[in-house]
Amino acid sequence: MGTEFGELEQTDVAVIGAGPAGAVAAALLARAGRSVLVLERQHFPRFSIGESLLPQSMAYLEEAGMLQAVVEAGFQYKNGASFVHGEKAASYDFRDKHSEGWGTTYQVERAVFDQLLIRRAADQGVRVRFGHTVRSMRTGDEPVLEVEDEKGNAYRVAARFVLDASGFGRVLPRMLGLETPSRMPARAALFSHVQDALPAGSTDRDKICVAVHPERRDVWYWMIPLAGGRTSVGCVAEADFLDVPEARREAKLRELIRAEPTIGRLLGDAPFLMPVNRIAGYSANVERLHGPGFALLGNAGEFLDPVFSSGVTIALRSAHLAAQTLLRQLGGERVDWAADYDAPLRKGIDTFRAFVERWYTGELQDIIFYAQQTPKIRRMISAILAGYAWDETNPYVADPVRRLTALHEVCSGAPA
Ligand code: FAD
Repeated sequence: MGTEFGELEQTDVAVIGAGPAGAVAAALLARAGRSVLVLERQHFPRFSIGESLLPQSMAYLEEAGMLQAVVEAGFQYKNGASFVHGEKAASYDFRDKHSEGWGTTYQVERAVFDQLLIRRAADQGVRVRFGHTVRSMRTGDEPVLEVEDEKGNAYRVAARFVLDASGFGRVLPRMLGLETPSRMPARAALFSHVQDALPAGSTDRDKICVAVHPERRDVWYWMIPLAGGRTSVGCVAEADFLDVPEARREAKLRELIRAEPTIGRLLGDAPFLMPVNRIAGYSANVERLHGPGFALLGNAGEFLDPVFSSGVTIALRSAHLAAQTLLRQLGGERVDWAADYDAPLRKGIDTFRAFVERWYTGELQDIIFYAQQTPKIRRMISAILAGYAWDETNPYVADPVRRLTALHEVCSGAPA
């Protein structure tokens, strides 16, 4: 059909965005024989933040036919997380955890990782267009997207279903007014990569390090060793605390790194390998994760906070669950997106939310640094830090708020 937008193309599924959520959903659908078109406004490789994966994500990469390529890519191996606050230190090994499944994963440069995933999706039959921006969508049983390429040519795509995996672009939530205020205060992050030159044995490269600011418990740092002697380092705080003019960002991050004893000792003078970036107000919420003819994946839906590296895991979990639900629908089954997709996905998001909220009040920090934790409870906490936030055999998933409150009373010496 010729229109002012040119030809109307047809596909089973159109995916907005070629990040991890889009790539994995697209691959899962293509593997099941569906025609899939991914529209991505940027060109890859492109920088993205979010470099520390959680072991739970490995199962989804495996199912999407991407695991071997990830394993062979030479990323920094990861088996846990360590936490420091002044003299206090705690280390969690993700192989020692309550839930079944992978206990190891990788710390990745996202430019390389994301390109690899979308290439593997393309190898499995997904059509991918870079430099194509989705401008609008008509929702309904037969959704239609309006797309524009870099030369300004507009065209339309008719799909049986649309998956919005547009990350912080949040294409459909913005367009359809689905955004709701986040319960998290507006926080910001200052971050960069450094040339680390860390002597062997000076730190455990197989774990990320999360450090609490010496004076402010609500301010924290990440140190994520990457392959090739590079380390990602960043600091997260309420937005005002990191509100510096662009020209002062590098000095501010340097000053913050030097103020924290562990990261300061390891990286205090390490040269920055890229301009110091600032990202703010990233927490986002939506009233629902689906609607007529579409579902929201990954960051296009909810984004909580980076402290437990849960972003990519939630993105891949959402991709997997949406692909399963959609395959049933395309196969002629009647599905209930609220019950089959929204509610089960939110279960794990809510587990992470309970952990994130208590991190910032300091309660979770008391729990993490509590030296007398029983091995059984340590394994339950370890499982969630490893991303197994949907495993309801774990009491801290089944009832996170009540369990964490009770555990904090024990760890802080308060009466039970
Ligand atoms: P993205 O990876 O953002 O991909 C979305 C894609 O959609 C982009 O390529 C974009 O170009 C494209 N797009 C957008 N709009 C359009 C449009 N109109 N048309 C076509 N394409 C479009 N997560 C972790 O797991 N570990 C971490 O250590 C971690 N650290 C973080 C630190 C900070 C400071 C922040 C803010 C986040 C962090 N995250 C982390 C979260 C992580 O960055 C995201 O959760 C993850 O990238 C989400 O993946 P996605 O596939 O949903 O979206």
